[in-house]
Amino acid sequence: MCSLCQSGGDASVANYHHQINLLLSRLAEPQRRWYVATLLLQPGSLSERRLSEITGIDEKTIRRGLNEMQTDLSSVPEDRQRHEGGGRPPAEKKTVR
Ligand SMILES: [Zn+2]
Repeated sequence: MCSLCQSGGDASVANYHHQINLLLSRLAEPQRRWYVATLLLQPGSLSERRLSEITGIDEKTIRRGLNEMQTDLSSVPEDRQRHEGGGRPPAEKKTVR
């Protein structure tokens, strides 16, 4: 919890921070830093330091996420699980509606 929420500041801000952390709690690690990086890229966004305080994610980690986002995630291979392994061969197309 950030210092602003702790001091019982603006309830709508506290709720916003809660929602951010709720979403983060359901994301895997790389997605967490990409999401926070995206928050950082938002026009008029919070500072890295504030976002780090709100989310509990290291500033270093946020900056890493930012880097990855700004290079179109080219350094991060897409999840290959979808393409790998013994999925069914692309069977004849049956369009059932
Ligand atoms: Zn907060």
